[in-house]
Amino acid sequence: MGTKLTIKPVQEWSIYKGRPLIISGPCSAESEDQLMDTARQLAALKKVDVYRAGIWKPRTRPDAFEGVGREGLMWLRDVKRETGLPTATEVANAAHVNDALKFGIDVLWIGARTSANPFAMQEIADALSGVETTVLVKNPVNPDLDLWIGAIERISRAGVKQIGAIHRGFSAYEKTAYRNQPKWQLPIELRRAIPEIPLICDPSHMGGARRFLYEIAQKSMDLNYDGLMIESHNDPAKALSDKNQQLTPNDLQELLSRLILRQPLSKDSKFLDVLGELRSQIDIYDDQLLDLLEQRMCVAETIGKYKKENSITILQTSRWEEIIQKAVSKGSSKGLSEEFINLLFKAVHQESINHQNVIMNS
Ligand code: PEP
Ligand code: MN
Repeated sequence: MGTKLTIKPVQEWSIYKGRPLIISGPCSAESEDQLMDTARQLAALKKVDVYRAGIWKPRTRPDAFEGVGREGLMWLRDVKRETGLPTATEVANAAHVNDALKFGIDVLWIGARTSANPFAMQEIADALSGVETTVLVKNPVNPDLDLWIGAIERISRAGVKQIGAIHRGFSAYEKTAYRNQPKWQLPIELRRAIPEIPLICDPSHMGGARRFLYEIAQKSMDLNYDGLMIESHNDPAKALSDKNQQLTPNDLQELLSRLILRQPLSKDSKFLDVLGELRSQIDIYDDQLLDLLEQRMCVAETIGKYKKENSITILQTSRWEEIIQKAVSKGSSKGLSEEFINLLFKAVHQESINHQNVIMNS
C-alpha cells in the first residue's frame, strides 16, 4: 500500500494513562455551565483521560444546532485550567485548526464527513504542517478503506506523529438498529495496512442509542482497541445534539466498570489475548456469513414469487450446474476444496429451494 508512516505508539503519548484511553464529554459544547459541570463530574471519576466537546458541529440538516463556535474554545481552556483534563475538539478546516491550537486544545479530531473529503483533509494537513499535536481521524462516512488511509497519510506527511484512528461506523441507506454500521473488518484491515496506528472505538455514533454502547465498547476491547470515545452530558435529555446516545457521567462510570479487559501481562495471558482477538475476528466473519445467507434467501424468495406469477418450475438444472461449476473453480483459486464447495453449495441451494417452495405453495 505504499508509504511507511512514522506514528508514535499510543503508550508514548502524554495523554495515555493505560488501556483503554478514555475520551469523553458532550457531543457539543452548549453553555459555559453545561461544559464545566460535565467536566467536573467526569474529572471526579478519575477514569477519563481526555475531555471532548464539539465546538463546530457538522449537521446533516441546516436548521440543527451548529455549535457555539470560537467562544466555546475559551470555555474549554477554562475546563483544562480547572480540572487539569486535556481537551479535544473537532476541526473541519484550516481556520478551525488555527483557532483550536491558539486556545491550547490538546487533541484535534477529524469528523467522518471531513475525512471523506480529500480537499478538506489536505487543507487541514497543510494547517498542521510542522505542528506537534495529536490528531484522531474518524473513519469516513462511507466504508472506503483507502479514503481512511489517505486521510491518515495526509496528516502524517504534515509531520504529525501522534495520530490515531477513530472507528465510528459507516452510514447505510437502510434503517438498522445501530445508527452506523460497524463493519468491523474495515478497522481490522486498517490495522493490517498501518499496524502501528492506535485504534479508538466510538460506540456513541456507531450505536446511536444508549442501550448499545456497552456491547459495542466490549467488542472493541475484545478486538484489542486502544481506547474509547464515548459522549457524556450532565443532562442528556436536554442535549442540543445526539441526546439519545449521551451518558451521564455516572452511567459512563458504570459502563467502564463493567468492561472486561484481558490483561496482556504474562506470556500466557499474552497468548490468550491474541487468541481472544482472533476469535473475535472469527465471530465477526461468522456474523457476516449469516447476514449474507439471510440476504441470499430473501432474493430466493423474490425469485420464487416471480416464478409463481409466471408459472415456471423451481428447479432449473442448467442454472444449478452453472452455479456449482463457477463456485468450485472460484473456490479452488481461494484455497477451498471441491468437496467443501460441493457440500456448502448443495446445502445453500437446498435451503433456497425450501424457501421458494414455501412461497410457491402459499
Ligand atoms: C462527533 O463526534 O460529535 C461527531 C460529529 O462525530 P462523527 O464525525 O463521527 O459523526
Ligand atoms: Mn455527536
